[in-house]
Amino acid sequence: METPGIVLVVFAHPDDAEFGCCGTIAKWCKDGAEVHYLVATYGDKGSQDPDMLPERMAIIREAEQRAAAAVLGVKSVEFMGYPDGEVEPSREMLGKIVRRIRQVKPDVLLTMEPHPRLTHSHRDHRMVGLTAEDACFPYCRDRLHFPEHLREGLEPHKVGAVLFFGGSDEHHEFVDISDVMDTKIAAIKKHASQVGTREIGPQQFERAKEIGKKFGVQYAEAFRKIEFRR
Ligand SMILES: [Zn+2]
Repeated sequence: METPGIVLVVFAHPDDAEFGCCGTIAKWCKDGAEVHYLVATYGDKGSQDPDMLPERMAIIREAEQRAAAAVLGVKSVEFMGYPDGEVEPSREMLGKIVRRIRQVKPDVLLTMEPHPRLTHSHRDHRMVGLTAEDACFPYCRDRLHFPEHLREGLEPHKVGAVLFFGGSDEHHEFVDISDVMDTKIAAIKKHASQVGTREIGPQQFERAKEIGKKFGVQYAEAFRKIEFRR
């Protein structure tokens, strides 16, 4: 698909975007897109170490997320600060996503598939995807929703489309990521607390290869897409 101008990526945990769609992010950044991250949690439950505390995990994972974003060329990384595993589709979270949309004015919003059909996905993934979809329409578009934003000087904004990554076999758009696989791997490696000493290489990206085959390229990421009326 064509490279959008401004992109907002909304996801649940540090590393979700890197595993899910960062080939696309790397490619779009390289092509001049302005990409922003909004992360619901610090991923503070992401450890099997009996001596690890959530507070310490949060600090580690925030730093890893910022480092991964820097590798990709992402312009900003913001966190909503919810505890890992406690993301609910609340009015408060809806307001936070709407505010960020009205601030950065994305053409395209990337978020997590809220209705995965083939696999189970983490509840936080589904909750954040559902809320981000609602934020795009109608909440960020209509000025009477979250009118306090107007008082902050933020205008309503129309998002062109939402692209969902992960968990769907229904693909309306794909991005050829064959020439940015090195960047994707480098960004994933920044999540050292999650990938450990595991070897990360193109041979491990069977999914990207499978999707690539479907679209006639070596490696690809694909998305379910919803377009909004302009
Ligand atoms: Zn996750």
